[in-house]
Amino acid sequence: MHECEYSRSMMCLSFCCRFEKGRIYTYIGEVVVSVNPYRAMNIYGRDTIEQYKGRELYERPPHLFAIADAAYKAMKRRNKDTCIVISGESGAGKTEASKYIMQYIAAITNPSQRAEVERVKNMLLKSNCVLEAFGNAKTNRNDNSSRFGKYMDINFDFKGDPIGGHINNYLLEKSRVIFQQEGERSFHSFYQVSEGLTAAVTDAMKVIGFTTEEIQTVYKILATILHLGNLKFGSDGDVTLIENSKLVSILGDLLSTKDENVEKALLYRTVATGRDVIDKQHTHQEASYGRDALAKAIYERLFCWIVGRINDIIEVKNYDVRVHGKNTVIGVLDIYGFEIFQNNSFEQFCINYCNEKLQQLFIQLVLKQEQEEYQREGIPWKHIDYFNNQIIVDLVEQQHKGIFAVLDEACMNVGKVTDEMFLQALNGKLVKHAHYTSRKLSPTDKNLEFDRDFRIRHYAGDVAYSVVGFIDKNKDTLFQDFKRLLYNSSNPVLKAMWPEGKLRITEVTKRPLTAATLFKNSMISLVENLASKEPYYVRCIKPNEVKSPLLFEHERCKHQVEYLGLLENVRVRRAGFANRQIYPRFLQRYKMISEFTWPNHDLPSDKEAVKRLLQSCGFEHDVAYGKTKVFIRTPRTIFSLEEQRAEM
Ligand code: ATP
Ligand code: MG
Repeated sequence: MHECEYSRSMMCLSFCCRFEKGRIYTYIGEVVVSVNPYRAMNIYGRDTIEQYKGRELYERPPHLFAIADAAYKAMKRRNKDTCIVISGESGAGKTEASKYIMQYIAAITNPSQRAEVERVKNMLLKSNCVLEAFGNAKTNRNDNSSRFGKYMDINFDFKGDPIGGHINNYLLEKSRVIFQQEGERSFHSFYQVSEGLTAAVTDAMKVIGFTTEEIQTVYKILATILHLGNLKFGSDGDVTLIENSKLVSILGDLLSTKDENVEKALLYRTVATGRDVIDKQHTHQEASYGRDALAKAIYERLFCWIVGRINDIIEVKNYDVRVHGKNTVIGVLDIYGFEIFQNNSFEQFCINYCNEKLQQLFIQLVLKQEQEEYQREGIPWKHIDYFNNQIIVDLVEQQHKGIFAVLDEACMNVGKVTDEMFLQALNGKLVKHAHYTSRKLSPTDKNLEFDRDFRIRHYAGDVAYSVVGFIDKNKDTLFQDFKRLLYNSSNPVLKAMWPEGKLRITEVTKRPLTAATLFKNSMISLVENLASKEPYYVRCIKPNEVKSPLLFEHERCKHQVEYLGLLENVRVRRAGFANRQIYPRFLQRYKMISEFTWPNHDLPSDKEAVKRLLQSCGFEHDVAYGKTKVFIRTPRTIFSLEEQRAEM
């Protein structure tokens, strides 16, 4: 067996043993690995919170709370922005983890019970409930699957109490509004509205501060989408008709606009030809396309609007840095993990690109940075081989040459460009790229359909993507007529969601950005943001496909270990050091422990003094001395130093 295979197997065995004993968390350095227990665990209560509060990472058994505490302490003690990146596949437990982290932070802050801080905490926690109603759905993998990526900043004042927050959302899977795979459902909100919207969600919206008018508009939009789903087109000769025309007046009511405007927007589009503006009738197919695009677009807009309203409400207010000191942040990222399905399309391509970006960040922050620091400090370092996935990130996002650029170029073309033509363009440009192919690996290669698929060799494995729908999904066209229809609604809440509907047809000149470009830009800024913070990682593992608390599938787990990059992680950590400090700071903190350094030392340098101190305590074997810093291998040494310090 290959060495890596063997190590991954061993790692899974240890997760499995721990899982069977109900120990769902394990550390790799400061990364916490979590295995979904699929049962209620009695490990999140007030007593557990108290056990972890203010403790060092290794003092207690591995737990999410310890990571949350570490991120919080780093932020508070060193005034640093930190972030917690949670990754893993669908159903692995990311969202649950992010909620426990937030609950922990809420529980350990605001000891003086300031009313304003309590209000903010309540808002932050309640916002989850609303976002889940609108952004989560039952899928075959997870009954409460997040169908969007979420990054949430929590802002803290100088005392370390939460004073506000901000949410960024990424790529909502809006196609779910019009189509669901067998066994899956649309977003929870639709079922809640048909049951009269459960008190849970409405209450949460009210508490957060949505007005009655806003909540009613939300109901109306959901109802609009449900009715659009029933709308059928027919034809009479060349004329396209709405078969169930009664629905038009229902839609008119819901959208607070005239019935004839609704009908016209569904059946015609206004086009500018030179100086003339004409109404062009949709074909049957165009009308259906338009209806579906409308349903998807209003849901997506609604979702973004809800996030925006939550942000208005939770944003930091009345905070004057000159009076209150620096405001620091903990960011929590709960985002889709790597996806490899039977049929992979544009969405999986975007999601997997996102994971390549996050892996690159991880490499830069953990692997590269560590190695570089040891080199800088002159610490002997055995080079660790790891795969640097920058080449794949470039393959996707590079200007002019990357897959997104080729796709955008195809979409820009005025003539009709088909998905197949896009594939040919890709093949022309990328045929020599080591991580791209559109050839079958062997004549019996079933994973790749010739003339339809291309394959990327991701860091986590090979994925074949079908190009079918790429052009359409990237253009993401919503006829301008719908935007004008919604902007002209007499419902001010709805109108405000569609500001671009203000433009007349002759004024619309700019092409909207494509879905790929928007996503790429949002990923680049996400990664920049994370890179500016001190990261903590939670890696979630899903033990089985059947939501069982008893079953641990070894092969599944091994695969996840591979694409979460855990082996590289462990290797660097093993070779590395848990703690490092510059000599003067170390001395300042621990000099009272040794007679050689207390109260002052007569050694030629601080470095020599630190050496002497550690020798006298018997820790010589566990440390290395760099040019400016002392490196300590195991956390136990630090704890012991801390204890001795406390006894002085
Ligand atoms: P997706 O990517 O689909 O959103 P996810 O990684 O966010 O998936 P969760 O929704 O967090 O997955 O978890 C799926 C389910 O697993 C939860 O609804 C819950 O039943 C169970 N689960 C996850 N974590 C825990 C936990 N710590 N304790 C008990 N059950 C858990
Ligand atoms: Mg989730």
